[in-house]
Amino acid sequence: MTNPEQTMRPLVDRLNEASQAYYFGEEPIMSDKDWDALYDQLSALELNTGVVLPDSPTHRVGGKPMSAFQEHTHVSRLWSMDKVQSIEALEDWIRRTEKLADGAALTYFVEYKFDGLTLNLTYDNGQLIQAATRGNGVTGEAILPQARTIRTVPLTIPYKGFLEVQGECIMRLSTLEKYNQTAKEPLKNARNAAAGAIRNLDPTVTAERRLDAYFYQVGTIRERSFASQPEMLDFLRENGFPVSEYLGRPQTREELIACIREIETARPTLDYLIDGVLVKVGDFSLREQMGYTDRFPRWAVAYKFEAEETTTTLKDVTWELGRTGKLTPLAHVEPVDFYGVTVRKATLNNYGDILRKRVAIGAEVWIRRSNDVIPEIMGRVGEPSEGEAEIIRPAFCPACGSALVERGAHIFCTNREGCRPQAIARMTHFVSRDAMDVEGLSEKTLTQLYDQMNVRDCADLYGITLEQALSLEGFKQRKAEKLLAALERARTALWTHSCMPSAFRM
Ligand SMILES: [Zn+2]
Repeated sequence: MTNPEQTMRPLVDRLNEASQAYYFGEEPIMSDKDWDALYDQLSALELNTGVVLPDSPTHRVGGKPMSAFQEHTHVSRLWSMDKVQSIEALEDWIRRTEKLADGAALTYFVEYKFDGLTLNLTYDNGQLIQAATRGNGVTGEAILPQARTIRTVPLTIPYKGFLEVQGECIMRLSTLEKYNQTAKEPLKNARNAAAGAIRNLDPTVTAERRLDAYFYQVGTIRERSFASQPEMLDFLRENGFPVSEYLGRPQTREELIACIREIETARPTLDYLIDGVLVKVGDFSLREQMGYTDRFPRWAVAYKFEAEETTTTLKDVTWELGRTGKLTPLAHVEPVDFYGVTVRKATLNNYGDILRKRVAIGAEVWIRRSNDVIPEIMGRVGEPSEGEAEIIRPAFCPACGSALVERGAHIFCTNREGCRPQAIARMTHFVSRDAMDVEGLSEKTLTQLYDQMNVRDCADLYGITLEQALSLEGFKQRKAEKLLAALERARTALWTHSCMPSAFRM
């Protein structure tokens, strides 16, 4: 009888190789169908023989729930980071560092400071043998089955010596959004979602959250050493560990500050949370010379950004009409200083969103900075209390009083022409650059046309006479003629595209 391990080994290797290529964005080496077939074959073998190789991809889906977390003592301590929150404080840190370097040339390295949960992974003989949370830096909790579900945590590595690697476990914002679309109770925050998933005793829950990880530090390595930060990062990359997508190497203080500004600007466009920038001295012999305080290394500092989330009180919800007649809730919140501006309004997507997030008037809520102009309400802080008022779903249009209809997740006013704000919004869109690009028709002018000349929809716009145009506020002969010419051009364009005005009647 053949040894089951001998049968499984090529299957496991082939599957891991294919996943690696997939998760690191390389050329796919196997179709999904082939992958599934091999995976099923491996699962069946494991079930029949009771043998599961330590790097089997079946670990990725999580195993049996655990009853409790075991304590794990890190071989090398995980240090905290010295923190600064202003450029002035950073400059003070640079001066101190220069003094400690005692005239030696300093090269700084800059990378993202991920906002997730710290992981410490242990490898021996090329196998992931343990994973732990940071804990107090000396001891953490053992979370090997949970860490194995993270696809960007390598289960095997080419390096065969003993190794401890530190990184940050995160949940991508796109993953969080996708998860929340079907989740019974939406997760408010990617950081808490990642931390909660890792610290869940049931690894299948961890697997469902589809976490990711980035690595930045070799804590312990026995059979080799590194001279510099780039050498260490190269080693991490060669062994399949993802590292920060941003790696700056500023030559001067000015360049260092420019790096920080650059990251701060890019921050809202990233698919994960970062809460700052890490600045590290690159030369490892200098690091040794500088040493540690009792809490943190003297050769690194975290430049912390302002929080991307804050809390405030929800004061009111109004319903705003769009050009399609869709009513969207707009949250009015207790003014709060956030990201350098005073926030008074926040987004809630629809009535279902309000129910799922369990928010109410008077409730304390989390708001999160989003790429839109106004932040989004993520959920409530704490449990409902007395004095809160339910947010009522409107039955009639706040603008025209028509009965509202429900379509999917949204509510609509179907009074297309008689509902002033939606008719004006529709015409404003129609003449905008994104659509017909008619110059000379501002929202203000369209409002005047609606109120005084009975212009109700886009087709009516074509009926405007020169006399009517001349009576519009701010319109003289030349401007009025230009407007009529622009409308005529738009009409011709419509016909050439054999596109009736009704095509715009959404
Ligand atoms: Zn209406």
